Amino acid sequence: ESADWQREARAQFPIVTGHPELAYLDSAATAQKPRAVLEAVQSYLTTSNANAGRGAYPWANRTTDLVERTRLRVKEFLRDPDPQGSSVHFTSGTSEGLRTVARDWLTTWLTDGDEILVPFADHRANLDPWLEAQRLLAGRGIRVQVHALPYQAGSGDYDHRAFDRLVGPRTRFVAATHVHHVYGGDMNVHRIREAVGPDVPICLDAAQSIGHLPVRVGESALDVDFVVFSGHKALALPGTGAIWARDARGPAFRPGGWQGSPNTVGIASLEAALDWLDAVGTDRIAQWTAALTTRLSDGLGRLPGYEILGCQSSLAADSPLPAAQRRHGIVTFRHPDIPSDDLGFILFSHGFMVRADSLCQAGTDEKKDGSVRVSLHVYNTLGEIDRLLAVLTSLG
Ligand code: PMP
Repeated sequence: ESADWQREARAQFPIVTGHPELAYLDSAATAQKPRAVLEAVQSYLTTSNANAGRGAYPWANRTTDLVERTRLRVKEFLRDPDPQGSSVHFTSGTSEGLRTVARDWLTTWLTDGDEILVPFADHRANLDPWLEAQRLLAGRGIRVQVHALPYQAGSGDYDHRAFDRLVGPRTRFVAATHVHHVYGGDMNVHRIREAVGPDVPICLDAAQSIGHLPVRVGESALDVDFVVFSGHKALALPGTGAIWARDARGPAFRPGGWQGSPNTVGIASLEAALDWLDAVGTDRIAQWTAALTTRLSDGLGRLPGYEILGCQSSLAADSPLPAAQRRHGIVTFRHPDIPSDDLGFILFSHGFMVRADSLCQAGTDEKKDGSVRVSLHVYNTLGEIDRLLAVLTSLG
């Protein structure tokens, strides 16, 4: 049932085609790599490996070019309307990216009495850095009030009405998540921008959207000031990521500079990954994973016993995305009688690799809840979903 383009795309992942007995269903943790990325790594390490930003010989120059070219590539991938004015800073992933925005930018920018809104029900990586910034500032006598960006269980989105009530004249910053890593809903970022007006910086955690759906900062639906993402979730190597900042002139924020030795081989993999994603098309990937997600959540919904966490049925009802793209390849569920570790073990005995432990969510204890997360990418198939549902049926 899969389209030709999807079969061709899947065929480009050697680890996937090399293990037909297994199904990798943990792409929200990290994604598999297409051949183009493996080849870019091999090619870089065998033709150009050197440090960047220093040296006057061809390998060093090629490496410096690679880093600068990839900065531009990130801007292009995000459809940045003003690449001259923005900057890109490479990181080891979303966690480091968010910490960097918090430490190097937010702490230099806030003044006494300012208020910020940050998500308390999303990934810890998008909460702890802001609380740490608040503590750092408090140590300098600058009091910042932190409000919980209200998440609305059941809708897959923030609670925008509650959000409106928290926005005031001292609101100086909002940290939001694009796609929730447990519930899989997308947040209506446009609605946040409308509520705060044009001047309040919004930092977007795009860890679960990058490579899965179009993340385009030139569109009014995504008018944000920072996009922070992990390269490794977008088909590049582990230990890669980037911060895109709309305004390169942020005080003390130094995304463009040479701070130590960059992860050049990771950057080579990121360039190749972004090329691959643009060639395949993130809108096609979004539609494919949405179709897989629908198959899985509809199938699970028909099975007695299983409970889907979050919001799969009414997913992000007022999302700015086209209806066919509103499901993002993440389905988290539990069975009241089967502990998640057991469920994970049983599923692996049938070849399915899922996440079956703590889900790094702030504010809850998912381990106690005993949930299992299935997360999908372009290489997954309807056949895998149907086989998974058959196994779950036999357990239920
Ligand atoms: N934010 C979200 C929404 C995530 O899903 C993750 C990874 N699970 C992170 C941040 C952290 O990403 P990384 O491990 O690449 O730092």
